[in-house]
Amino acid sequence: MQLTQHQIDYCMECGVCTGSCPVSRNWSEFSPRQIIKRTCIENPEEVTKRRELWQCLSCGRCYSRCPVEIDFPEFNRQQRVAARLQGNLPQESHHGVMQTISLLQTAKLTQSRTAWARDAGKFSDKGDYFYFVGCLPYFEVTFRYLNLSPLTSAKSVLKILNKMGIEPVISNEERCCGHDALWSGDEEKFEKLAKLNMEVIAASGAKTVIFSCPEGYFTFKNNYAKLFGNLPFEVVYLTEFLAKEWNNANFTFSGNGSSSVTFHDPCRLGRLSGLYESPRKLLANLPETKLVEMERSLINAQCCGTSAWMECSSCSKSTQVERINEARDTGAGTLITACPKCQIHLTCAQQGTDLNLPVKDIFTYLAERIKLD
Ligand code: SF4
Ligand code: SF4
Repeated sequence: MQLTQHQIDYCMECGVCTGSCPVSRNWSEFSPRQIIKRTCIENPEEVTKRRELWQCLSCGRCYSRCPVEIDFPEFNRQQRVAARLQGNLPQESHHGVMQTISLLQTAKLTQSRTAWARDAGKFSDKGDYFYFVGCLPYFEVTFRYLNLSPLTSAKSVLKILNKMGIEPVISNEERCCGHDALWSGDEEKFEKLAKLNMEVIAASGAKTVIFSCPEGYFTFKNNYAKLFGNLPFEVVYLTEFLAKEWNNANFTFSGNGSSSVTFHDPCRLGRLSGLYESPRKLLANLPETKLVEMERSLINAQCCGTSAWMECSSCSKSTQVERINEARDTGAGTLITACPKCQIHLTCAQQGTDLNLPVKDIFTYLAERIKLD
């Protein structure tokens, strides 16, 4: 990514990003502006040898505030591609299990990705709608120790879609969307996964691909479109789809008593895709739910503290605990999010602490309140 001379000149006198960055707040030696300075003015070879490239969360807070629109997450991602080629690699979390699972998916392999759906609802092999389930079947096994069931979210999605008369395609052949490979600088892996997913979707005949993971949604919408040009299908995030179809769906609701919830904007959905309204609209449509906002929400929301299953650190933990406390300060009994990874990270951070705030995904929350039988 080439910055203009004007951007570089402005940047050297600025520093807004460093003051906004959750990582810089915890580690004063980390500075996005310094990375730009070292890359553009000093010694780019030196930059790609440094560990700090991996510490950025790609949360986009800096980009949203940069007066000269420097897309630092993308700028840094490109340095990561060069770093990886030189053998400078990130510290992978959970012994690299998620990276290994996605690598296996670049090969010809047989997956059993749809077993969960058989009891949950009706789905098809071909049709207009493709539900891109993403990594939820793998998260279900990997994060069992957190007493979370990420597949409950997928089951909820299927039940809601069935209630609307939609039997989406769900495929055993689907692959990881490649988001984490891309943000870890592994473009070769990303491209292999992306090509396989495009073939699977083409074979299904789908005209619309529905996502319940903001990373998959963002990656298709932006990076797949960059790689393949105009996509031959529409890319839709489920909260947008539901908000648009809500009146036609004629949902009725079961009473679960009134509850107060707060909503955590996932970075890929909020700041990076600009989708803030639809999840709030859905929650507001529920008769007995009161939404209370955290001090930092919408474009100003705090990141969940970890990205692409790498570099989980004391900085991640303090960012997450800070976010949980911010949610607790609202008085809400539940923290709702629209991203499976945010749910995992914000639940994980509470282990071994006296924090005990349930973190729920929005689709499970909706499915518990909409009468589905
Ligand atoms: S906010 Fe933009 S211009 Fe300012 S230091 Fe950061 S990247 Fe440079
Ligand atoms: S993307 Fe987020 S973590 Fe990375 S430099 Fe910008 S504000 Fe900091």
